[in-house]
Amino acid sequence: MPTRNHYRKTFMVTGGAGFIGSHLCERLLEAGHGVLCVDNYLTGSRDNIASLLSHPNFETMRHDVTFPLFVEVDGIFNLACPASPIHYQRDPVQTTKTSVHGAINMLGLAKRLSVPILQASTSEVYGDPEVHPQTEDYWGHVNPIGTRACYDEGKRCAETLFFDYHREHGLDIKVARIFNTYGPRMHPNDGRVVSNFIVQALRGEDITLYGDGEQTRSFCYVDDLVEGLLRLMDSPAEVTGPINLGNPGEFTMKALADKVIQLTGANVSTRHLPLPMDDPRQRQPDIRLAKDHLDWTPGIPLETGLQPTIDYFRNLVERGLA
Ligand code: NAD
Ligand code: UDP
Ligand code: UDP
Repeated sequence: MPTRNHYRKTFMVTGGAGFIGSHLCERLLEAGHGVLCVDNYLTGSRDNIASLLSHPNFETMRHDVTFPLFVEVDGIFNLACPASPIHYQRDPVQTTKTSVHGAINMLGLAKRLSVPILQASTSEVYGDPEVHPQTEDYWGHVNPIGTRACYDEGKRCAETLFFDYHREHGLDIKVARIFNTYGPRMHPNDGRVVSNFIVQALRGEDITLYGDGEQTRSFCYVDDLVEGLLRLMDSPAEVTGPINLGNPGEFTMKALADKVIQLTGANVSTRHLPLPMDDPRQRQPDIRLAKDHLDWTPGIPLETGLQPTIDYFRNLVERGLA
């Protein structure tokens, strides 16, 4: 049983009860830090942090980051924001508020405390990119009035706020542009491609390929991603980012479907559905900056990471929860 450690830092993780946030909380606790998990449980759950609740260095707070928050911590990871199109499009105005008002409040908090703050930004700031792979100096190709804009533009504005607080107030900022990440604790009903394909295969349903299935994505296993976030937070103050974190291995959705069918051993085929609005055609991170500044590269190949992810969803399907 771990004992309370009074000498390490306490990090606040907003969105800590979500998919990536819960893994981050776990890793911070393993490193001996204290963690304050702040979440409004919009898309996260207590199940995701159930194993952490009894840890003496772990605290939770139900709070919506669009409202001011006055606490004392040594560093902030700002992950609060629904990440999947189904969730962020359900209440698009709230999504923009979470990114923009949430960033202002968390930056105000970091400024008052003079502590470093990391923003979970996204590859979606590149929109449907015209350059490939995407480097951090590419400004993006986002439709500002489309159905993805509440998320993409919200995240772009949050980056603007981070850099203005950095320039105006000398704040120690870290901006990570996260590419598609997968692993255990992904939401089973969030419509993301990895969760959809695995749950469909495990239920013996045909896999839904949107469009021709030739569009590509690059998938990073959550443990690799969290390692990148921790290294970024630990990096010298001059490393502000934005910095791409993702796995450059690029796959078509058709190839992903074949892999999931093979690894689950399911006897299913694929069926085609229309491509959603503004669906990017290609996405692959250029991670040279992360290699140079953080000495970080993802080490877990798709086949390896899919296995524990399939095991996670198999358990949910067997319990009738997915
Ligand atoms: P998630 O939906 O599982 O987690 C988001 C968490 O934020 C949830 O626990 C949710 O309840 C919480 N939240 C939402 N609005 C909030 C608010 N107003 N106040 C407090 N808490 C709030 O998503 P995730 O995949 O874990 O994503 C975490 C972060 O990483 C997000 O900021 C997302 O934009 C970013 N990101 C994720 C991916 C990915 O592939 N998963 C890719 C790029 C960026
Ligand atoms: N804020 C907060 N917690 C703090 C400090 C500030 O939530 O510990 C909020 C504050 O309510 C404000 C926002 O962060 O809405 C921005 O704060 P800042 O001090 O930068 O701006 P100002 O208060 O001058 O508008
Ligand atoms: N996709 C698909 N079938 C699904 C869900 C998604 O073919 O059941 C496609 C989707 O059109 C997109 C890709 O998979 O091209 C990744 O979608 P996701 O929503 O996971 O992530 P994002 O588009 O945000 O990268």
